[in-house]
Amino acid sequence: MNDHSRDIDDRDSDMVEQNEMNGYAKIDQYNPVAIGRMAQQFRAVIAELGEDPEREGLLKTPERVAKALQFLTHGYGLDPAQILRSAMFREEYQQMVIVRDIEMYSLCEHHMLPFFGKAHVAYIPNGHIVGLSKLPRVVDAFARRLQVQERLTVDIRNCIEETLKPLGVAVVIEAQHMCMVMRGIQKQHSTATTSAFTGEFNSEKTRAEFMRLISRGSQA
Ligand SMILES: [Zn+2]
Repeated sequence: MNDHSRDIDDRDSDMVEQNEMNGYAKIDQYNPVAIGRMAQQFRAVIAELGEDPEREGLLKTPERVAKALQFLTHGYGLDPAQILRSAMFREEYQQMVIVRDIEMYSLCEHHMLPFFGKAHVAYIPNGHIVGLSKLPRVVDAFARRLQVQERLTVDIRNCIEETLKPLGVAVVIEAQHMCMVMRGIQKQHSTATTSAFTGEFNSEKTRAEFMRLISRGSQA
């Protein structure tokens, strides 16, 4: 397990390549063999849709789609628990730690369409704290997979619970689902909210404090 994690970390630095395409000039990792195979399938899909895959504007589309999808699911190559373990420190602090408004982008596993929004993550340390930047990375590692919002919420909670063994964990995700918005099933701006708690966050008082701290009103 540790060896595996180390491999992934090495790949982070070694196989990094800057993506030239607009929209995500981020660090991407591609598996060229898989990209080639997927591109071939997407060419067939484009033809099935009634388009001409040889049309100039579409010539490179299958490869772009394959690369985009590989980027949008790169969480499969990440070990979220290892991300936390890499920055855990002994500390006696026992108050609530909250990182709110974490940008979150995922793909719904039913339609492979985006759902995105904000995650709020809190925990109450029990001997260990974790570098604050690691919590958004854990959110990202689980979000960049085929997901449902409910499981994403619980995945993040369980990972923090099992790795940090804190006094409690709270995760709330608010997201809009393109499969609802674009397909016109629900109102355009409806948001789905999911939450998952452990330990002290199951007490009404602690949970209420958390909800108050993440609510919009506290932003100013
Ligand atoms: Zn969907």
